[in-house]
Amino acid sequence: MSFALSSEQIALRDMARDFARARIEPHAMEWDEQKHFPVDVLREAASLGMAGIYVREHLGGSGMSRLDATLVFEALATGCPCVAAYLSIHNMCCWILDQFARPAQQEQWLPALLRMEKLASYCLTEPGSGSDAAALLTRATREGEHYVLNGRKQFISGAGNPDDFYIVMVRTGEPGPKGISCLVVEGGTKGVFFGPNERKMGWNAQPTRAVIFEDARVPVANRIGAEGEGFKIAMAGLDGGRLNIGACSLGGAQAALDRALTYMGERRAFGKRLEEFQALQFRVADMATELEAARTFIWRAASALDAKADDATQLCAMAKRVATDTGFEVANGALQLFGGYGYLADYGIEKIVRDLRVHQILEGSNEIMRLIVARQLIGR
Ligand SMILES: Cc1cc2nc3c(=O)[nH]c(=O)nc-3n(C[C@H](O)[C@H](O)[C@H](O)COP(=O)(O)OP(=O)(O)OC[C@H]3O[C@@H](n4cnc5c(N)ncnc54)[C@H](O)[C@@H]3O)c2cc1C
Repeated sequence: MSFALSSEQIALRDMARDFARARIEPHAMEWDEQKHFPVDVLREAASLGMAGIYVREHLGGSGMSRLDATLVFEALATGCPCVAAYLSIHNMCCWILDQFARPAQQEQWLPALLRMEKLASYCLTEPGSGSDAAALLTRATREGEHYVLNGRKQFISGAGNPDDFYIVMVRTGEPGPKGISCLVVEGGTKGVFFGPNERKMGWNAQPTRAVIFEDARVPVANRIGAEGEGFKIAMAGLDGGRLNIGACSLGGAQAALDRALTYMGERRAFGKRLEEFQALQFRVADMATELEAARTFIWRAASALDAKADDATQLCAMAKRVATDTGFEVANGALQLFGGYGYLADYGIEKIVRDLRVHQILEGSNEIMRLIVARQLIGR
């Protein structure tokens, strides 16, 4: 067992960090304020191999490991957790195609996705089923060589452009997980409509919309895997997605802590710099320690997923919960160290706190992470 990153991994992390510093961080506040989805910058990231980080090389991906991916997402999130998190969802969709699509489907869809000419969305949640995703109701009825889709997906990240690409979990059979199938719905399909961009606490640099299907006809050839395999595919994607979102929390929190440390060296109170107060020194020491513990856990879970270990799903759930809770607490603690200025938009700290809050809710809420772990422990 080695805890050291290889020279290649360090170079990869530094490349992503440099990209975040040059192309994301300087604009992050403006994108947040203007609710701008920086598709051009995402395409630049794709040109550096960041759209299919763990898609295999013969399919056009970067062929890296899950551990490598967590390094990339943490580094990107130091610039903006929201932009990094959208890229994580896109990567998850590309990986689903890598693992579960037929070769002809991979050839058809992956090249444009890996260049991010098309942006992918993952459509599982519905108005009546979030945590209990297997209760989804969007119905796909077979009519010859098409499925006819009716229903509504809720909270879909990145949705709304006609050129986009949707991986959609639909009901083709019985109630429960075994009646769910996975379909690709291409942008521009007749009968696909979008809700308005949701007004959110954070994650403003990517759209979140309902995706509505009204008699939308989708070729049977667009099904990924067999009928009834959709839930398994959706859950497999989420193992890695949870690591990535945890890594995004680490990156955002690290950026907040770094800014707080700089501020503590400048700001004076009671005739001293803030960094001279031992109470505050201990606080930042704890924040750095908690972050390092969460980072180590994310790497451990990523290694388990790379090794296809039996307990990988459980470790990914544990690590997601720890990293996203820690990330939020550290960022919120950094805000406190800025005093009133932390609450102002100008310093960028409140934006990080707002962005990281949702990581405790999505990709499976942190209560659901506990449910996954408890089921394993108690065997139900
Ligand atoms: C900004 C944003 C982007 C998103 N992007 C996507 C996306 O791209 N694709 C997608 O499919 N979904 C997406 N989601 C949806 C997200 O995954 C769900 O919101 C999440 O899974 C929770 O579902 P819910 O909101 O329906 O809450 P509910 O399932 O209604 O849960 C409500 C509360 O009850 C708790 N709870 C539920 N069941 C249990 C239980 N058994 N035991 C203990 N506690 C429980 C939950 O943890 C939560 O605290 C996004 C959400 C947001 C906010």
